[in-house]
Amino acid sequence: MDNVLNQYAEIAGQDVISHLRQLASPLDGLKVVHVNSTKVGGGVAEILHKMIPLMIDLGLDTSWEVIEGDPAFYQCTKSFHNAIQGNRIDVSRSLLDAYEKTNEQTAERLRDRLQDADIVFIHDPQPAALINHFPQRKGKWVWRCHIDAGKPFRPVWKYLKNFVSNYDASVFSLSTFAQALPHPIYLIPPSIDPLNEKNVELDDEEVRTICRQFDFDIDRPLIVQISRYDRFKDPLGVIRAYKLAKKFIPNLQLILAGGGASDDPEGEIVLNEVRIAAGDDPDIHILLLPGDAHRIINALQRAADIVLQKSVREGFGLTVTEGMWKRKPVIGGDTGGIRIQVVNHHTGFLVNTPEGAAFRIRYLYHRGDELIEMGNKAREFVRENFLVTRHLKEYLSLIFALLNGGRERIEVS
Ligand code: UDP
Repeated sequence: MDNVLNQYAEIAGQDVISHLRQLASPLDGLKVVHVNSTKVGGGVAEILHKMIPLMIDLGLDTSWEVIEGDPAFYQCTKSFHNAIQGNRIDVSRSLLDAYEKTNEQTAERLRDRLQDADIVFIHDPQPAALINHFPQRKGKWVWRCHIDAGKPFRPVWKYLKNFVSNYDASVFSLSTFAQALPHPIYLIPPSIDPLNEKNVELDDEEVRTICRQFDFDIDRPLIVQISRYDRFKDPLGVIRAYKLAKKFIPNLQLILAGGGASDDPEGEIVLNEVRIAAGDDPDIHILLLPGDAHRIINALQRAADIVLQKSVREGFGLTVTEGMWKRKPVIGGDTGGIRIQVVNHHTGFLVNTPEGAAFRIRYLYHRGDELIEMGNKAREFVRENFLVTRHLKEYLSLIFALLNGGRERIEVS
């Protein structure tokens, strides 16, 4: 556990690590509890698996608790999830009862820890109602919303707001994801972990070895989009862009890689449309990946010359961060979190149409030096803005602000 943070010094820079230690030193021994709904699967658990050892390494007494319920609880929270993201879903009273009951039982189970904690991070809607069971809480409570609450289905948001309003602060990933609330709202974008399987350095030989299982030619021009088969990711637009660009770059190959289509009826429909659009072009490779194909995704992103993420609607777009970290310019849809990652003409290009994407593919292949320069800038942009170390720094700053609220000047030793 000791040296988790030091592993990041080489990647993020020693100054970043020193800064984190400086920020954390007045917080030594502070009791911090994170509560979410699972320790396995999903982006929130992935981040917490890294964030918690890092906080411990920095001297904060940090623990991680999970709320667990019966099927009715999960049915309810799944509906919340979809309704917050805009689907019109009415949640029945009996499901709300299951939600409230699970939160009440969890509050009793975790009473000692939560009551005395200095800082409590409650992640997403599942444990949001816990706060109502701690009227005498000692510490500051933060609601950390990881999903896009920008245009929620109002009746469901109104219900959840009754709980969320009681927190001392909320955190959203992007300004467009946020809701007005009667407390300070912080914007903290997500991050990637440069040391996990999906992002760890792979040398050329490893990339070649991993890619050998597929039948594309790693030595020919290659563009890649990694995404679930979802219309919002615009895989058909990607195929169109590829076909337009291929008229000028005859050797061009396209990989569309994604998983989960077989257990998602909508995904299967989109995948079929993609197969039809690809036709019999031997240079379009449609890959179906298992859920744990992290190293393969890593290698495909590294094998690519350009990473595409031509979404027409996007949350944050972690595939953009992952591609940029591998020194790839990203041609991305001008939407959501792609906008704060792709700095147009510097770390890649923002596009609105397949024609626009094709134009930028041609542009980059005809200016190989710019392709490399943009890729290097993309890497630096991620290093500065979207690594887990930045995420951690912002959590520490948030804790600082909450503990020193109202003071105009805060001294960090
Ligand atoms: N991903 C994956 N397998 C796939 C497709 C995507 O592991 O078949 C990963 C991808 O590398 C990224 C995440 O899932 O880490 C997708 O996050 P993103 O924010 O890009 O899109 P979302 O799927 O959340 O809309």
